[in-house]
Amino acid sequence: MILFLIKIKNLVFDVLFPLICLDCQKYIANGENPICNQCFSLIKLNTSLFCPVCRARLADNKKICNHGKKNQPFSYLLAAAGNYDDPILRNLIHYFKYESFENLSPLLGELTIKYIENCKLKIENYIVIPVPLSSRSLRRRGFNQSKSLAEFIAANFNLTMINGLKRTKNTLPQAKLKDNEERAKNVKNCFTVQNAENIKNKNILLVDDVFTSGATMNEAVRILKENGARRIIALVLAKA
Ligand SMILES: [Zn+2]
Ligand SMILES: [Zn+2]
Repeated sequence: MILFLIKIKNLVFDVLFPLICLDCQKYIANGENPICNQCFSLIKLNTSLFCPVCRARLADNKKICNHGKKNQPFSYLLAAAGNYDDPILRNLIHYFKYESFENLSPLLGELTIKYIENCKLKIENYIVIPVPLSSRSLRRRGFNQSKSLAEFIAANFNLTMINGLKRTKNTLPQAKLKDNEERAKNVKNCFTVQNAENIKNKNILLVDDVFTSGATMNEAVRILKENGARRIIALVLAKA
C-alpha cells in the first residue's frame, strides 16, 4: 500500500514537475542532472592551457607562445574547460548566466574539475578569486555565477577562496561594444583589490564564466599583478 502511494506520489510529482533535459528537452526518467546523460557526454573538454593573447594551445603549461613577431611571455595562463562554440556548453552557460540557474553550478563545476585533471594542473599552492560582478548585475541576476563556480572548485581542491577583487564601476555589457579597444576602455580601472596583503606573493586562480575578448580578465590580472600577485591562472568554463 505504501509503495503504491509512493508510486502515485512520484507520478503526480513527475506530471507536475517533469525533469526535462535543459538542452534537448527530452524527459529524464531518474536523472538528477539538469541535462540528460547523452547531452552531458557530448560536451567536449579541452586538455591544455591556452595563450591569453592568441589562444593557441600551450604544450606542457609553457609560458611562451609563438604569436606575434617574437616569442613573447605573457602575464597569465588561460585555462578554459571548454569552448564557446560547443552548442551544449554554450546553452548551459546561457542558463547559468542569464537565467539565474544557480543549480547548474555543481554540473559546470564537475566539468571544470575534470578539465583541471585533464591538464594535470598543479594548483595546490594557489588561492581562488572570483571575478566580481557589478552591483547592478548582481541585483539583476541574484547571484554571481563566477563566485558560485569558484566556491565549488575551491571546496573540491581544498583551496582558500577570497573575494579579493571589488568592482568599483558599473561597466557597459562587453558584448554591446564594437571592438576590443572599446572593451578595454570600458573595463579600465573597474576593479580594486579588497586587501593588498591577501594578494601579495600569492599564486591566484582567477575564476570567471567565459573568456571572450579577454578585456575583463586582462584588467583583473593587471590590478592583481600591480598588488604583487605571483602566478595567475585565469580559469573559465569556456573561451570564445
Ligand atoms: Zn539532453
Ligand atoms: Zn599566443
